[in-house]
Amino acid sequence: MDFDPPETVRPLLDRIETFVADHVMPAEADVLERGFAAATPQLAELRGKCKEAGLWGPQLPRELGGLGLGLVEHGLVSERLGRSPLGHYVFGCQAPDAGNIEILHKYGTPAQKARWLEPLARGDIRSCFSMTEPENPGSNPTILSCAARKDGIDYVIDGHKWFTSAADGSAFAIVMAVTNPDAPPHARASMIIVPTDTPGFELVRNIKIMGDEGSGYGTHAEIWYRGCRVPETNRLGAEGAGFLIAQERLGPGRIHHCMRWIGICERVFDTLCRHITRRKIDDEKTLATRQIAQAWVAEARADIDASRLMVLQAAWTIEKKGFSMARDQVSLIKFFVANVMLKVVDRAIQLHGALGITSDTILAHYYVHERGARIYDGPDEVHKMVVAKRILARYASEDAR
Ligand SMILES: Cc1cc2nc3c(=O)[nH]c(=O)nc-3n(C[C@H](O)[C@H](O)[C@H](O)COP(=O)(O)OP(=O)(O)OC[C@H]3O[C@@H](n4cnc5c(N)ncnc54)[C@H](O)[C@@H]3O)c2cc1C
Repeated sequence: MDFDPPETVRPLLDRIETFVADHVMPAEADVLERGFAAATPQLAELRGKCKEAGLWGPQLPRELGGLGLGLVEHGLVSERLGRSPLGHYVFGCQAPDAGNIEILHKYGTPAQKARWLEPLARGDIRSCFSMTEPENPGSNPTILSCAARKDGIDYVIDGHKWFTSAADGSAFAIVMAVTNPDAPPHARASMIIVPTDTPGFELVRNIKIMGDEGSGYGTHAEIWYRGCRVPETNRLGAEGAGFLIAQERLGPGRIHHCMRWIGICERVFDTLCRHITRRKIDDEKTLATRQIAQAWVAEARADIDASRLMVLQAAWTIEKKGFSMARDQVSLIKFFVANVMLKVVDRAIQLHGALGITSDTILAHYYVHERGARIYDGPDEVHKMVVAKRILARYASEDAR
């Protein structure tokens, strides 16, 4: 078994690492201070440089102007990009656009592709994905109140959503709405494209996340859809196929998130190790001489390396054997890596002392903006339950043998 990145992708990884270090990281402090909306021109310039360097859209199919990487290759890229909070955005593979691009590419009609997919893939517009509702459990998304009623050749959508990430400034939302209320739970909803300038689309507020409401791309919105009328041709895929398509969106999406989190871990690990090898705790000795700090360094190294192997194995399984063979692996990495990341960030903050909770390092940004990792795309508890049930069912069936 070869644990080195494939020869085909290694030079690309080197170029991406250099680009992130030379162009993206130097812009970070300024962009995060000003917020995404104010920094959009600066980010557009960086995206231009990324395109000139031939690095745009690592996961995008070649016909959409991207590099056409497979899941394992893109996973390796995603780790490099995750070392900066701007990495995925600058390279055109940020959530939720990356997932929307995937489903538009697979299910979009030629007209939907021309109007929405192509400008999205070029980075000319942004999009959002609107499924979760404040009144219903997002962890069981078959329970939805948002409804799309047929009226002639149109749908009329009424519903209340929240945590629609990046809605502020998006050109359109892909909305999950009930179209077939009498069907079985997993066949009730459809995905419908709603341009954000549709009458009745009301962005109520950007929800504050631990005190920060963000701006532009870096937001999570509460939205009312009040009698939003869109043509039936805006439906993505078959009527009632919303959950099926959502599942397809989530599989690779979890690999991308996990590899991004490993990138965050590596960045934080560097920050931690640099700090403790320099910070004197008495006249002579640094923090790095203390056993507790050494133990945390060793534990972090083991946890990060284990995470990477698990995620790459899951990506490999999806690529070689299909998503259905990787279900358990994907659930395992989703909660395991999210917890590794948050533990590494928390310990790094602890070892930085007061400095750790200031904005003078990257740590506080991650502490605030990555806590959601244990909640979105399936909370920890749901993934654990699902995996455990499958494992235990295999043991339970032993009695029948
Ligand atoms: C940063 C962030 C970004 C997001 N972006 C988007 C987006 O772009 N679009 C979108 O539609 N949604 C988005 N979401 C919403 C996300 O999908 C939901 O928050 C998630 O599905 C959980 O739903 P909920 O918040 O309603 O929690 P609930 O379903 O109310 O669950 C609350 C808690 O209950 C526990 N729990 C739930 N079910 C079980 C169970 N079966 N067994 C044991 N414990 C359980 C878990 O601890 C869970 O965290 C985002 C969320 C976050 C935090």
